[in-house]
Formats: sequence, structure tokens, C-alpha cells
Amino acid sequence: MSVDIAPLVLRAPLSGPLVPLDAVPDPVFAKRMVGDGISIDPVSDHVWAPCDGTVTHIHPSEHAITLQSESGLEVLIHVGVDTVSLSGQGFSPQVRSGDAVRTGDLLMTFDMDYVATNAKSLLTQVIITNAGDGAAFTYEEGLAEARVNTVLTVTAERESQDESTDGYHPILSDPIAIANPSGLHARPAAVLAHEAKQFKSHIEVCCGDKRANAKSTTAIMKLQIQCHQTVILRAQGPDGEAAIAALITAICDGLGEDTVSNIANEEDGGDLPKSFSGLTAAPGFAIGTIHTLKKESFIVDEYGAGEPVEEKAILAFAIKRATEDLETLEAQSTEGEIFAAHRELLADPEVLALAEESIARGKSAGYAWQIAYTQQVDSLASLSGPLFAARAIDMRDVGERALRIILGVEAAQHDLPETCILVADDLTPSQTAALDPDRVRGFCTVKGGTSSHVAILAQAMKLPALVGIAEQALSIPQGTRAILDTAKGTLSIDPSDAEITAIETIQEARQAKEEEDLKHCHEPAMTTDNQRIRVLVNAGNETDNILAQGGEGVGLLRSEFLFQKRASMPSEEEQFEAYREAALSLGNEHPVVIRTLDVGGDKPLSYVPIAKEENPFLGERGIRVALARPELLHTQIRAILRASSIGNLSIMFPMVTTLAEYRQARAIVEEEALDLEVNTVRTGIMVEVPAVAAMAKQFAEEVDFFSIGTNDLSQYTMAVDRGHGKLAQLADGLHPGMLALLANTADVIKPFPEKYVSVCGALAADPVAIPILLGLGIQTLSVPAPAVAGVKALIRTLDLTLCREIAIKALGLSSAAEVRELVTATFPTSLQ
Ligand code: PEP
Ligand code: MG
Repeated sequence: MSVDIAPLVLRAPLSGPLVPLDAVPDPVFAKRMVGDGISIDPVSDHVWAPCDGTVTHIHPSEHAITLQSESGLEVLIHVGVDTVSLSGQGFSPQVRSGDAVRTGDLLMTFDMDYVATNAKSLLTQVIITNAGDGAAFTYEEGLAEARVNTVLTVTAERESQDESTDGYHPILSDPIAIANPSGLHARPAAVLAHEAKQFKSHIEVCCGDKRANAKSTTAIMKLQIQCHQTVILRAQGPDGEAAIAALITAICDGLGEDTVSNIANEEDGGDLPKSFSGLTAAPGFAIGTIHTLKKESFIVDEYGAGEPVEEKAILAFAIKRATEDLETLEAQSTEGEIFAAHRELLADPEVLALAEESIARGKSAGYAWQIAYTQQVDSLASLSGPLFAARAIDMRDVGERALRIILGVEAAQHDLPETCILVADDLTPSQTAALDPDRVRGFCTVKGGTSSHVAILAQAMKLPALVGIAEQALSIPQGTRAILDTAKGTLSIDPSDAEITAIETIQEARQAKEEEDLKHCHEPAMTTDNQRIRVLVNAGNETDNILAQGGEGVGLLRSEFLFQKRASMPSEEEQFEAYREAALSLGNEHPVVIRTLDVGGDKPLSYVPIAKEENPFLGERGIRVALARPELLHTQIRAILRASSIGNLSIMFPMVTTLAEYRQARAIVEEEALDLEVNTVRTGIMVEVPAVAAMAKQFAEEVDFFSIGTNDLSQYTMAVDRGHGKLAQLADGLHPGMLALLANTADVIKPFPEKYVSVCGALAADPVAIPILLGLGIQTLSVPAPAVAGVKALIRTLDLTLCREIAIKALGLSSAAEVRELVTATFPTSLQ
């Protein structure tokens, strides 16, 4: 059956000679598998809308945009040939999916030189992907001028499938792993759709909780299926079985492309690397066998068997059951707040309303719920910043939890072998919490961040974990022996027996050393030439165990813990209680440095709204947030000052950039002390902004102490986002550029014997960095509590004079790697 529609006239999206599709050096376009159309050899680098319509898809690699014309025809503009492999480099879309555009509006610009030199061809295809068999195309010839000349007229019929599903049961394929290196982008999607169209059955491609009509290239592309993701095919109709069999073969054959296994076999005999590197999400060490987890797929019928009222009841029941399950998890897990937050997401009235609307239109409970939560996931994922990305993951996790209940399927129970190391594309918090630590020794994921909920759960469960490992790790055969070592940040595969024995010996020695160090954790950290170094602790909400672990005080109390995961600001009284408790657990003789609220950037608060920023880390953060809301700072400072009579408290301001900010904050301390009729306390600043480290001399005159936050100082000095997976090495705090800033900060405080500089960023607990920090004149380190004993033991092996010598040398080196080499060569036994 076909639907008559008005002719569609397409204006040139680019200037250049028109070329018939047959001449495009890609059989999928040349054989019109994607659809019919025309190609342009561009002489301009702006791509304009060829017709009025809506942007329905922008490929993640940004080289292809699909518009839907008002009459429903889909127009794909595919810049260049094989440009998906450029991974977005050279392309700058100027529209977003969902935008309405008029003929001649700008869709994208691209770097012509880059694309021309890095892609197979610049020929740009303008294709109608859903024209019916009876459609008539009029192709223009010659030279087209962008936005002026017509290139193609489609006197068309939109494709409409005669599909009969009545009386046929749906048939499902087994999960099929996609092995196309760039996933199901335009070319393989077109081949799949072309193959699917040979069958009468209704066929769908399902991936996770998304699904698409297998006969529509654009619908498949919109699923954005990546290499190694798993799909399930679902066919319903007279030739369903034959369709599934043929399409499985087509997918496994690569849909007209070389698959990763073919490429690997051709290039290097199919060898996987011996070792994969990643970022530590939870520390530890594990030996086990690899078990790869495939992404779960759900098959959901669109229309319900029951009346809307029944489907609504099914949904309500599922949400109730899921809520109860979350309550149980909340009570059982040490990280219960994560699941409390999941309960809130599950109770989101917008998502529920959306689902109920769909049910009212006849959809099944499962389908309606899946659409509703997926929409919420997508809108969270489209917002920038790691927090929204994490929320999107949580929303999907919660959505799937309820969906499983509706569908009556258990959470994927993987037959986990004993002592295994899991490798997955990603894990959800629920999956992580459900891991059996007796079987799972650790895990590695391709996606995920080091400060995600999954990372927090892994730390609480003492499961070593790496994130950001290469996708190729998903191809490690099940059962391969492997070693996961987060200290090195590696997953080594197929170690020999001798290697395993050697590593086990090292592990045993490490463990014995840790036990020995712990025995001496209460002794001071004296260098071999008798200089005492203070080792303090970075704390959140737990301060009662600090002295027991050898900490000599709290060098950084991240007061955010009091403000996060709640709907409103903690009162002065509530804050007072928390600071009082910290002061009491440390006693009078041990300092507690309370950092005022440090939010913004990666740590937003719902009740301290910050306008959306292009680069939140370079925006309203730290003291900037507090000074813009002085009532917030006044309350916090009053609470600290009131608690200061109980212990040895000082106040530290985060992310200070200017002296004016410090003076303003200090003035609030003085004003409140006067009002409360108490003494003021010592006040200092975090050194996290390069400007402060560079002009530390002026700050040293006024502050009582500095604490160097190397996590932020390196991100701002090295211009590398602190959560960036790929560039993490570049942000190494031992870069001589960083050391110059540390040296300056330490030097300028020396004329003030009553003042001090500490380091409280991650560098303070890095064994290779410690000799350099001491050598630069740092006499106070603030580290996570479990690191205290080891840090003290290391300091006891160091000679401060030698540390000073190598610190001076390090300042003259040219890279962090050279600095690390120098330290390890100077103190080989200390750093064993
Ligand atoms: C730092 O930036 O090094 C630091 C200690 O602060 P936070 O990690 O809390 O931002
Ligand atoms: Mg910081």
C-alpha cells in the first residue's frame, strides 16, 4: 500500500557539481540501499536545509543529519563517504534533534580540508530513505549553488508496509553482538533495512529498552547502536522465522562492512592486547577469570492485553514492588542513600503521568512505562555535566527495575563462575549492589566514572574496579585468566602461571607490609634526618575513626556531605551538631579544618540553583557560590564558630581566586564572631586556582594557612577536566608546571613560622609524589584515612635533604614521567 503526497522539492544543501548516486564510491549508496537521491561534490563547507522539516536525527559522529519533511519523507544528508570513522572530528552541527528548520537554514559546518584529507571522499549524499516503490525522482544536473538551485524533486509516495501480524506469535532471536567498528551507522543500517524489507513480517531491532522498525534505516540509526552492543530481533508475521534467520546471518556477516573480528584477524591475527588500562573507581587487586556481561534487552508488547484500567493497575503494582525492593536495599546497603535517591526517581510524577497517558491511549503498561522513563533518561543525558549523566544512569536503572516486574522477568542472572572478574560495557548501581562478592572479585567497565554511584558502591563492597577500559576488552573470551591491579590501573589477561605466582608473592608482601605499617600508625612520621611531617586526614561524614587509624587531625573536612542528598539547606543547628561531633571525636589537641560549602561544577545542589553553564568547572563554584548567597555562608560560619569552643577548629574557603574573595569571607567570620561574642578562628584557603598559587606571596600575608587541592589545581593548570578518562595521564600533578606552583606556595609561607602549607589533594597520598612534596617544603599532608599508616611508614624511610635535592632537579625536568622516574630511581627501596 502507498500514500500519495505532494512533490518534495529539495534545494542544494551545498554548492558544487551534482553527481549521480551510481558514481559514489560506496556500494551501499551507489546501489541505493539507503534510498534514492543525489550526490554533490561540495565546494562549500556550510550545509543548509534542503527543505522545511524537523531534524529527527543527528548521528553521534555528527557527519549525517536526517530531516523529516512536512509530508513525512525522510531526507538524509550524509557528508562524505566513510566519515563515520572520523568520530565527529571536523563536523559542527548547528541544530539539535527536534529542531524545526526552514529551507535554507544552516544545519552544520564542516572542516573541508580535514574531511577531504581524512575521509574516502567528500561526496555528500542527499537521500530519501523512506520513499515507496512507486516514487518518481527528478535529478538535476550541472553545478548547484547552495540554497538557490533545486537538486532533486520527489514526486513520491511514502513507503507503507503491508504487514500482517494477526494470528502470528512473535519470534525472538538470541542476543546478537554487533561487530561493526562504528556500530549501526547509516551504511549497515541501510543494508539491514534493505534485507528486512524482503520479508512480509513486522520486524524490530531491540537494543536494551529501545526498539526500532527493522525496515527503516533512520529508525535503526536512531537507536545509536555501538560496536559490541547486543541486539535482539523480533519478527511477527508469516515469514518470521525465515526473516530472523536471514537477518542474523546478515548482521553476523557485517552488513556490508568488515567486522571488528575480521579486522583484528586481518591486522594482527586476532590478538587482543595483553593488558588494558583504565581509571581506578575502587582500589584493590584481584586474580580471576573473565566473565563478560552482555547488556540486557527487553521485549515489550506495544498493546496491552487488558483494558487501560487493568494496565494502569499493573504499572501501579510494579512501582509499588520496585519501591519495596529499593527500601530493602536501602536498609541493607552501607550506601543506602543511593537507593533512597532511586526511590525518589521512581516516584517522579512526570514520568508516571506520561506513562498513564500512553496507557489511556491503549498502550501496554510495560510499553508505556518504558517510553516514559526512557524519555526522562534521554532528557537527563542531553544535559551537560557528569551529575546529569549519572542521574540518567540511575533513572534507567530504576526504570528497568519496574519494567522487569511488569514483564515478570528476573534481573539477568548471569551464571557467574567462582572468582571472576566482570567486564561490562556499563553496570548500574542495582547490578553492582547485587554482585555476589564471594564470586565476583572485581570488575572493569567501558563506561562509567570514578565518582559515580557504581564506584561508591564498589568501594563500599571492597570490590576493585576500573572504568574507562577499551571496548575491545568486551571481546576477551569468557574464562580467560586475568589480573586486575588498580594500583597500576591495568587488567592483564592470560598471565602465565609464573606471572601469577610472582604477583601473588608481591601481593602477600604488600599485605604483610600494610599490617606492619598499621602497627606503627600512632607513631609520628619522622624523616630519617628527624624532621616531623604531620599526617592529617581528609574526611566527609565519618570522623570517629580517624585517630584510631593514626590520623593527627582533619586537614580537610568536606562539609558538602551535610548539604548533599537532601531537599533543603541544613539549619544552623543541624550544622552546629555535625561540627560539634567532629570536634568532639578529634579532641582539643587535634586540628579540624572545616572547608565551607564547596558545590557547583561537578557537585550541584537542587536547592542552590545555578544557571546552566557552558563550562561549570569554570563557572559558579566553591566560594563564588557562597559569596553570591551570603546568608548561606553566614549560617555555616556561625555554626562552625559556635562549635569551635569544643575543639580546635579552623575554617577553609574553597576555590578562592582573588584576595577580595578571601577578605570578604574573612570579614563574615569576624562579623559573626563579634555577634556571637566568641573568638575568631584561624582561616585559610584552598589553593586550587593557578592564579592563587602564582601570587601566593600576597595571599600569605593575610591567610593563616594554605591547603593545596591538587585535584583541582592540576585540572586548571593542565587544562584537563578532572574526570576526563582519556586525558587523565596529562593531568598528572607531578608535572613540572604544577611543581613550580607548589614550590612557590610553599616558599612564600616560610617567613611566617605560625603559618603552614598542606597538600590535601590526591597527590598527598601518592607514594611517588611524597618525596617531592616534602622536598618542596610541604610539612603537612592530608590523606584518606586508610592511607595514613602507609604514608607515615614511607616518610620514615626518606631523607629530607635528599628530597630537597631531587625536588630542585624535578623543577627543571620536562615532564611528569621524568619526575616519576627520578623519584623511583632515587628511592628504589622506599617505593617497592
Ligand atoms: C582538590 O581539589 O584537590 C580537593 C581536595 O578538593 P575536592 O577534591 O573536594 O574538589
Ligand atoms: Mg577541589
